[in-house]
Amino acid sequence: MSSENKGKPGEKAAQFSMPTPLSNLEIKYTKIFINNEWHTSVSGKKFPVFNPATGEKICEVEEGDKEDVDKAVKAAREAFQLGSPWRRMDASERGKLLHKLADLMERDILILSTLESIDAGKAFTASYFADLPGAIKSLRYYAGWADKNHGRTVPMDGDYFTFTRHEPVGVCGQIIPWNFPLVMFSWKIAPALSNGNTVVIKPAEQTPLTALYMGSLIKEAGIPAGVVNIVPGYGPTAGAAISHHMDINKVAFTGSTEVGKLIKEAAGKTNLKRVTLELGGKSPVIIFADADLNVAVEQAHQGLFYHQGQCCIAGSRIFVEEPIYEEFVRRSAERAKQRVLGDPLLPTTQQGPQIDKEQYDRILELIESGKKEGAKLECGGGAWGDKGFFIQPTVFSNVKDDMRIAKEEIFGPVQQIMSFKTIDEVIKRANNTTYGLAAGVFTKDLDKAMTISTALQAGTVWINCYSAMSPQCPFGGFKMSGNGREMGEYGLHAYTEVKTVTMKIPQKNS
Ligand code: ADP
Repeated sequence: MSSENKGKPGEKAAQFSMPTPLSNLEIKYTKIFINNEWHTSVSGKKFPVFNPATGEKICEVEEGDKEDVDKAVKAAREAFQLGSPWRRMDASERGKLLHKLADLMERDILILSTLESIDAGKAFTASYFADLPGAIKSLRYYAGWADKNHGRTVPMDGDYFTFTRHEPVGVCGQIIPWNFPLVMFSWKIAPALSNGNTVVIKPAEQTPLTALYMGSLIKEAGIPAGVVNIVPGYGPTAGAAISHHMDINKVAFTGSTEVGKLIKEAAGKTNLKRVTLELGGKSPVIIFADADLNVAVEQAHQGLFYHQGQCCIAGSRIFVEEPIYEEFVRRSAERAKQRVLGDPLLPTTQQGPQIDKEQYDRILELIESGKKEGAKLECGGGAWGDKGFFIQPTVFSNVKDDMRIAKEEIFGPVQQIMSFKTIDEVIKRANNTTYGLAAGVFTKDLDKAMTISTALQAGTVWINCYSAMSPQCPFGGFKMSGNGREMGEYGLHAYTEVKTVTMKIPQKNS
């Protein structure tokens, strides 16, 4: 996921003067944020945070676990009590606080972008020109909704007056991944706070630093104590404590399908908390022979290689109509070879490292499986450089649908290109997956574009573009890519309980 204009930070950088990342940035916030204060972990444990570009340790962060989650939930519950400053606050005032938080992010954009790049290995240009603006816009979008989530009057049968109230759900546990740490932080807290909920959020263990910095801004913005609590820690400990907690009303999770299943299971085993999930994908991109080839090659390239392929929407199954297949493969390989790898902080860098050794090993193993299963390696195919977790931009052609690289989510810079003959065939093949997050179609033929966009089982379908996102647009998956929608007006539903209030209207003559 990311903000609009994703995939083109380099172009944007060329239009504006290039900002310089901060050198020797001091890491100020490494503790657990509860009740607008910084806490050490109950266990006394800390965990290391690494720079994936160098493999070096950046700092140590307090390691939250069940007891810390309990403390955070207690604070969030207190902040949610009827009569609390947060519950008594005017809805419009909540909107103002979200705007204030967005203002502070704008003020500190250099710090946040630098921190994001160091912690997540994200190209600084991407952090500065795409992720930060996207995260800020999401806050502002939901700031605007704070006083507009209206209930209705209902024409009930009988002598009654019925209306609905849209109330906050309560304490929301939010578990986010490492690929878009700030964007995900913002996507999660913005709709929750807009609706008057309180939050306990756990950033991914690989990338806690920008979330913790946000803690300081949340306090500075004047958001009341206990409304947002940030507990860094590992998934099976702190994450599981959130998903199993009896006093959390709702969980929002973004991450792997495997863990998504655990989150739902935990809700079923405990208090049936509401669950929304945004999970993996193996998104098809369908390119017809009549498409603008330059656009299709570039969009398919960006749609896969952006942020090292570490995007749940990555278009990782490219289906190309036979007459243009060879040419498309040739140009895609040429394009991939031009990708500039290196230090994410350099303005020229387009591709940084994978997030950690585990992901790096898994991607390399999948690349090997592609070679073994008979796909044709057009470029790349191995590690890059002598430090950090870099992988060469890799393009495979002659990929068959039953190869592992065509079925499994790789989450790396590895592009699979298949060919197809007919529209019916490609629809069947594109839908033949347990995932359903996103899809793309490239054609100048409106009939084909509409047929494909109707037939594909995916939460988002892009026509003649890819990865174009904006806070107004709902986002989420069909099938095993998730439950529910985030962003847009639809994104409010997950953070709203609808209460039906019915009042007897006394009859004068009775
Ligand atoms: P990835 O495989 O891409 O690292 P994960 O789904 O493992 O993605 O991680 C996404 C988020 O889920 C992270 O914040 C991680 O700590 C958390 N997580 C991992 N395992 C669990 C779990 N068993 N319960 C709750 N959260 C978890």
